[in-house]
Amino acid sequence: MYEKWFVGVDIGGTTIKMAFINQNGEVVHKWEISTNKNEKGHHIPTDIAKSIDQTLDKLDQTKSKVIGIGIGAPGPVNLKNGSIDIAVNLGWENFPLKNRLEMESSLPVIVDNDANIAAIGEMWKGAGEGAKDLVCVTLGTGVGGGIIANGEIVHGTNGAGGEIGHMTSIAEGGAPCNCGKTGCLETIASATGIVRLTMEELSSANTPGMLRDFYNEHQTVSAELVFDAAHEHDGVAIKVIDKVALYLGLALANTANALNPEKIVIGGGVSKAGDTLLTPLKEQFTRFAFPRVAQGVELVIATLGNDAGVIGGAWLAKTRLTNNHL
Ligand SMILES: [Zn+2]
Repeated sequence: MYEKWFVGVDIGGTTIKMAFINQNGEVVHKWEISTNKNEKGHHIPTDIAKSIDQTLDKLDQTKSKVIGIGIGAPGPVNLKNGSIDIAVNLGWENFPLKNRLEMESSLPVIVDNDANIAAIGEMWKGAGEGAKDLVCVTLGTGVGGGIIANGEIVHGTNGAGGEIGHMTSIAEGGAPCNCGKTGCLETIASATGIVRLTMEELSSANTPGMLRDFYNEHQTVSAELVFDAAHEHDGVAIKVIDKVALYLGLALANTANALNPEKIVIGGGVSKAGDTLLTPLKEQFTRFAFPRVAQGVELVIATLGNDAGVIGGAWLAKTRLTNNHL
């Protein structure tokens, strides 16, 4: 028995992450290419296929080494034909991703949503290892969500299952969201949301501190800086983080109350804050979760970082394209 590979692909707005992954979920080789958004993202499948060929060449391998591709895209997926209804970041509308990539690469392709494959990655090899009921929330520029129930991704009726980022957190007077609603969790718990809350807080009071000093000097702040400042007991930063923990805790508790998961995995750039976020978040979560739900669940920080998507993509390819005993 010799090793076969899967290609995991994670398409983002600026880069496309790719990896060859073996049947045990180990990353054999990973690389990335930039996302070509010219002509409404039309070249993306060709770029991916070419890059796979070039990388196989570089590694002295042929295509027979590869079983198939599992790919995540930023948008709701039509699971019947593997097309993407809309991906604003890439310029795609009704884009036949599966068909185009199969044609270009001569490999079978499984398509899913990027937040879903990240959740699957964490379930297979990351912080969710072993859990069959798992909620994964990715706090980055936006807030992505992936739900796994009984080992399966919850896609819903038209591919929009698990959109935790668009749970309404503030019913009246919330900030506008990219989705067209107002008051979504994404407007609060994303890196963008944290910066917005900080600006609001800085302009509404005169509390002195390191965040205000930094802002006065540079006219800008970052989510990372807000967490660093909170760690140093900066008053404004603590107020912002408390607000983030409150609404994120509420949304996650309500999600958990419906699903009774074993693990909730917090990923994305904002999760690098670690305990500065996790400690107040656990407090709020416990306040709002049904007691038996709270007893059954563990809130953890994701461990795979940027590799979660490609590993999840490979898992999809492995489970859909093989009978698991290669
Ligand atoms: Zn929204």
